Amino acid sequence: METPQNYDVIISGAGPVGLFLACELALAKCTVLILEKAETPYSPLKKLPFGMRGISAPTVEALYRRGLLDELEIHKRIKEPHQKAQEPVVRRQVGHFAGIPFYSSDIDYSQWPYRLPGSTATQLMTEMEELETVLARRAITLGVTIKRGFEVTNLNQSAEEIIVIAKEQTFTGKWLVGCDGSRSIVRKLGGFDFVGTEPEFTGYTAQVDLADPEKLKLGRNVTATGMYLLSQKDYLILQDFDYGSFHNSRKPITLDHLQGVLRRISGTDVTINALYTSTTWTDRSRQSSTYRNGRILLAGDAAHIHSPLGGQGLNLGLGDAMNLGWKLAATIKNSASESLLDSYQTERHPVGEKVLDWSRAQVAVMKPEPAARALNAIIQDLMKTRDGATYFAGRVWGLLTRYNLGDDHPLVGSGIPNFEFEDGKLVGQLMQDGKAMLLDFEMNDSLKNIMSKYEDHISYISGKVKNQLGVSVMLVRPDGIVAWVADNNPDVMELQKAISRWFAI
Ligand SMILES: Cc1cc2nc3c(=O)[nH]c(=O)nc-3n(C[C@H](O)[C@H](O)[C@H](O)COP(=O)(O)OP(=O)(O)OC[C@H]3O[C@@H](n4cnc5c(N)ncnc54)[C@H](O)[C@@H]3O)c2cc1C
Repeated sequence: METPQNYDVIISGAGPVGLFLACELALAKCTVLILEKAETPYSPLKKLPFGMRGISAPTVEALYRRGLLDELEIHKRIKEPHQKAQEPVVRRQVGHFAGIPFYSSDIDYSQWPYRLPGSTATQLMTEMEELETVLARRAITLGVTIKRGFEVTNLNQSAEEIIVIAKEQTFTGKWLVGCDGSRSIVRKLGGFDFVGTEPEFTGYTAQVDLADPEKLKLGRNVTATGMYLLSQKDYLILQDFDYGSFHNSRKPITLDHLQGVLRRISGTDVTINALYTSTTWTDRSRQSSTYRNGRILLAGDAAHIHSPLGGQGLNLGLGDAMNLGWKLAATIKNSASESLLDSYQTERHPVGEKVLDWSRAQVAVMKPEPAARALNAIIQDLMKTRDGATYFAGRVWGLLTRYNLGDDHPLVGSGIPNFEFEDGKLVGQLMQDGKAMLLDFEMNDSLKNIMSKYEDHISYISGKVKNQLGVSVMLVRPDGIVAWVADNNPDVMELQKAISRWFAI
């Protein structure tokens, strides 16, 4: 039985978002309990190939800044695509939109002047099981309690606390965050809406044994009736434009059913000998209008769902966690202004909205109908241009994400560039403690004195960097977002205003 304890934060769901959020909160010295429905963290759907997930620049950076990237085996095997493109240019596919590829040699990398050499990769592949294992290990090391086999079934909030029921036991916390996925119970019981659009298709992912794989073409194939993707001769992804009816029926996926869908979409009489693991999904797109109701917050798939086309859901969710963690911790520790927690909504909701539209746009050009085909052809032409390929790469890799913090400087609201100090240290390596930073490239003594009074909250770091990018001083939030910049001669009053805006000190 649980010893009665009032946690700072209870998180429903030990998926990647709940685990990463727990790590961020525990790093900021909050007490955290995760209640997870499943008895075990293992599932064939989390292992390769089903569990393969593409992560883009902001996620790679978030993991890197917390020292977690090197713990992912897959990271060690993959090279940085944008660095490769500086070499004698190799033309290779580095992403897609609606299955339309874009290539490294078409991209104008100079459009992202703040991605310095030494930056992390713009995209990597990871495996859900490995990612969750790494995050759970870190969370436990930081003191987070994870209770598996504890399905949240009820909750009740008052002005002072929140009571959560799981496995007929009662848990009390100051805050509750629903990271419990697309069917979130916290969203339902917490009084949130979930608005959006209904699906166009049922997606299938399946591991099969094909009797005659030569009847299909390897790779992604858009046909008159849908899309099939065959890789390694036994791994299939299908898109059947049935308005999601098969997925919604919740019927089991039988061999006969899958074979029928595959034959219809591929226009062949291919035979499936055996069906191993399989799952369905759709392009239903919904988002909560608000991510907070009193002491309850939402993050990850609990707050937004959309089709996995172009792989953005995990990135979006981990971005929520990075943004929310330090703000909620500061609110709990009374070192936040009233409006700090509100900025979780104002910053993250528009990012979510854009991802939903990006996935809807992909579906719109994949539909098996003449108008979609015509649009698709135009996008293919645009993607072959330098500006087109650069735009699509910027969106897919998450390089264009920037919060509107009310300052026109292109760095304010963006992730901090990975500046390299003259001794070879990289800025991203200095962020593992989760503290805010003031970076002073001019080693200004008066600034050092001023910052000494904030040392509990903000690390003062001074030193010459190899490429200053025209900046002399920067205030960086714990989530790696640049909050304030001075090109030269920092205005101390403006700096203090920024410090009090973000850290209420
Ligand atoms: C086929 C497919 C491919 C994808 N590819 C990509 C990709 O390449 N890149 C990308 O960024 N995203 C991708 N995604 C999306 C990505 O997997 C999700 O966005 C991500 O897993 C969301 O993480 P989460 O932690 O919010 O939710 P989840 O991973 O769903 O975790 C939620 C957790 O909450 C638990 N839970 C549920 N209900 C309760 C309850 N009542 N009480 C307690 N616990 C509960 C669940 O058991 C689960 O452990 C893909 C999705 C699919 C389906």
